[in-house]
Amino acid sequence: MDDCLFCRIIRGEIPAKKVFEDEHTFAFEDINPQAPTHVLVVPKKHVRGLKEASAEHAEIVGRCHLVAAQIARQRGVEDGYRTVLNVGPRAGQSVFHLHVHLLGGRNLQWPPG
Ligand code: AMP
Ligand code: ZN
Repeated sequence: MDDCLFCRIIRGEIPAKKVFEDEHTFAFEDINPQAPTHVLVVPKKHVRGLKEASAEHAEIVGRCHLVAAQIARQRGVEDGYRTVLNVGPRAGQSVFHLHVHLLGGRNLQWPPG
């Protein structure tokens, strides 16, 4: 995806504060953090969102969550963090490249807004 914002971040065409990278995933600080820890974990392969994911994406969806858990451990926020996928415009999805939000470092309310 040539013009996808997160594909461009992964390719290094748009600057981002990288947190982690491996063969399949890329993690970076959210530009508009909603918590002391707010990291986005994305698959390197472009997938539009969870709604568009299929069985072939099972591993990568799992990997993104495991990377989020690893970053939460490293950040010392394991007393309470949340992984979130906003799916579709009514849930606030604004970037259509699947991403797991990792939010932590403060009390998180339930239900989310
Ligand atoms: P969502 O609304 O679930 O699609 O999440 C998109 C997230 O991407 C938001 O939390 C934005 O703050 C974040 N975001 C948008 N542009 C950038 C960027 N250039 N670098 C880092 N995060 C970004
Ligand atoms: Zn993309």
